[in-house]
Amino acid sequence: MQTISILGSTGSIGTQALQVAKKHNMKVKAVAAASNVGQLAEQALELGVSCACIFNEDKKAELDERLSGSGIKTLTGMEGLKEIASLDGVDKMLNSVVGMVGFEPTLTAIRHGTPVALANKETLVAGGDLVMREAAERNVPIYPVDSEHSAIFQALQGNKGNKIRKIILTASGGPFFGKTRAELEGVTVEQALHHPNWSMGRKITTDSATLMNKGLEFIEAMHLFGVNADQIEIVVHRQSVVHSAVEFEDNSVIAQMGVPDMKIPIQYALLYPHRTECEVGRLSLTEIGSLTFEKPDYDTFDCLSSCIKAIRTGGTLPASVNGANEAAVGAFLDGRIGFLDIGRIVKTVCETAEHHEVKNEADVLEADRKARAQAEKLIREINA
Ligand code: MG
Repeated sequence: MQTISILGSTGSIGTQALQVAKKHNMKVKAVAAASNVGQLAEQALELGVSCACIFNEDKKAELDERLSGSGIKTLTGMEGLKEIASLDGVDKMLNSVVGMVGFEPTLTAIRHGTPVALANKETLVAGGDLVMREAAERNVPIYPVDSEHSAIFQALQGNKGNKIRKIILTASGGPFFGKTRAELEGVTVEQALHHPNWSMGRKITTDSATLMNKGLEFIEAMHLFGVNADQIEIVVHRQSVVHSAVEFEDNSVIAQMGVPDMKIPIQYALLYPHRTECEVGRLSLTEIGSLTFEKPDYDTFDCLSSCIKAIRTGGTLPASVNGANEAAVGAFLDGRIGFLDIGRIVKTVCETAEHHEVKNEADVLEADRKARAQAEKLIREINA
């Protein structure tokens, strides 16, 4: 029986992972959530975990109360996440928290020698060089959970020693594909949160609407698969059936397909290398009829261009761009800025943030902190 821990257990990926874990009789040793203390306590009691962490420190007393007498250890804050990431006897840690918060726990798990199923793309965007280097040094595997990266990982199976010529990274295009900047000026939060194909959390759904998500995934793919920026082609594929593909040197292109349901990549990451029944719909190509592929609009969706510029520059710049985006998305969801302001803020930070080589995690955290501060200043200026 496999033992796992889940950071982000009350989120979209976390709750689906728990269903996968239940179906396949995995033991869940620890769970962690941002602030949904009621659901976290329920999960902890139902699963009989050893420890539960509520990231929001204001909710710790409530967690203590809900779990009192259960014998479950309660934790909070970044220290709590790191304690879970360094638990012994865990075969795999699923990291599905949202944002930069996931960076330190990922590093902690890797340093502890615990394999990571990674759904937290910000970890690799901000600190990819460091994370991949430490994972390689310790021979700790990272299993991608992001559907595109799972597809690439799956396409690479049985190809050890064969060089990747190119990665075809597919994008749904989000709810605003084909729109002009003028049409996007007045977009509401509700419209941005209405994704055509995937059901996900608020941050990633907003990132999908701005195409920031694809920019983050571009960077994530470079780190996970050791390719350079020229080896990735982003292709808008509205049906979200081809989840990404790899072109090899013999011009063969191997893609992974399936219905757009995160349970497939979650289960593959948790059960790797085994494939067994998964509770999702089956793909019918004849029902879909046709698959389309188009080029993205880099001018309208400037977050995407900023991400590519940031990773081509390298060093701490991707961490800055990511931090600026997290601040800007938060402000958009709170109704403090407009939809297009997200891209403007990300672009400004990308063009003006100082950047240097990443030597350790402090460099990454500092770049993130400064970028958020710069973004907050830009947000205040918009509101002035
Ligand atoms: Mg994805």
